[in-house]
Amino acid sequence: MEKIDIKSMTEEEIKEYIKTIGQPSFRAGQIFKWLHLGISSFDEMTNISKELRNYLDEKFYIANVKIVRRLESAIDGTVKYLYELFDGETIESVLMKYNHGYTVCISTQVGCRMGCKFCASGIGGLKRNLTASEMLSQLTMAQIDNNIRVSNVVMMGMGEPLDNFDNSVRFLKLVSHPNGMNIGLRHISLSTSGVVDGIYKLANENLPITLSISLHAPSDEIRSKTMPINNKWNIDALLKACKDYQKVTTRRISFEYAMIKDVNDTKEHAKLLAKRLKGIMCHVNLIPANPVVETDFTKSDNMRIENFKNTLEGLGITATVRRTLGADINASCGQLRRAEQRKEDV
Ligand code: SAH
Ligand code: SF4
Repeated sequence: MEKIDIKSMTEEEIKEYIKTIGQPSFRAGQIFKWLHLGISSFDEMTNISKELRNYLDEKFYIANVKIVRRLESAIDGTVKYLYELFDGETIESVLMKYNHGYTVCISTQVGCRMGCKFCASGIGGLKRNLTASEMLSQLTMAQIDNNIRVSNVVMMGMGEPLDNFDNSVRFLKLVSHPNGMNIGLRHISLSTSGVVDGIYKLANENLPITLSISLHAPSDEIRSKTMPINNKWNIDALLKACKDYQKVTTRRISFEYAMIKDVNDTKEHAKLLAKRLKGIMCHVNLIPANPVVETDFTKSDNMRIENFKNTLEGLGITATVRRTLGADINASCGQLRRAEQRKEDV
């Protein structure tokens, strides 16, 4: 019989399971707590009887990630991890230190099938979805490895979270559970390339997370050139979904906008963007595009980015320029795994 992934189960599900073998329900809480501290074997559950530990070990497995590479930035202490999963697949995570605490950027899939032209994660296509436990393990491992507590999470690593909807939502419920890592949903951002049906499904969940939309272009003409998903759901459809999402959740939406030299970074582009975002309570994050070896895009110069920001603000749209962290360790997601793959290719 195949073992069950216990770290992806809610406390209630564990409770239901152990009820069938006559265990009191408070044991589920104890087991759940241990799992979310990041233990790797049932034997570490010291307040659980040896007999029950053996039983659990027969029925369940504890998902974990193994550190394959760890790069620490000499500039700002950002730590980038390449993790290996049980089946040998690899994913990336980044730990960043801000004034308000530690943020981890997690992956939600191995690879990605959205195929955005500027992104290293999509180059090899989608390998598989991550389980909720594999998303959690990226956080517990970062905590253990650095002896810290993570306070914020961004689902902005490799993969499209809304293309792995059920596991992503399960992760959100687990990570915010008071007996687990207890990270408030308000401290979590989920970034999507614009999977419109997923945005509506997420609205139904009505979670107080921050929804981040990778817009990156003010017109369909430009967006379709770099983001194939725009051919399925264009900017109008996407922004309509954002408005509907906002009606339900009343949360401010973040728009990610990677500044690519001569592609989307002129004053006219900024004006058009401001016009389109009118009526949405939002914030724009301007990201100097990270060069990816396989593409010929380059980042806009700082002057352009500053002007773009000022134009947006002049038109009533708040915007910030994202600080580049870990510039010396290739911290942009998908790039480390890609570099490892290139090494293997030679
Ligand atoms: N799939 C989701 C989340 C992961 S990508 C999404 O696309 O939103 C996280 C962010 O990194 C997205 O905003 C994505 O557009 C951006 N990104 C990817 N490659 C980049 C690059 N080379 N430079 C700047 N941003 C990039
Ligand atoms: Fe996938 Fe996001 Fe990269 Fe696009 S930007 S390929 S959706 S990970």
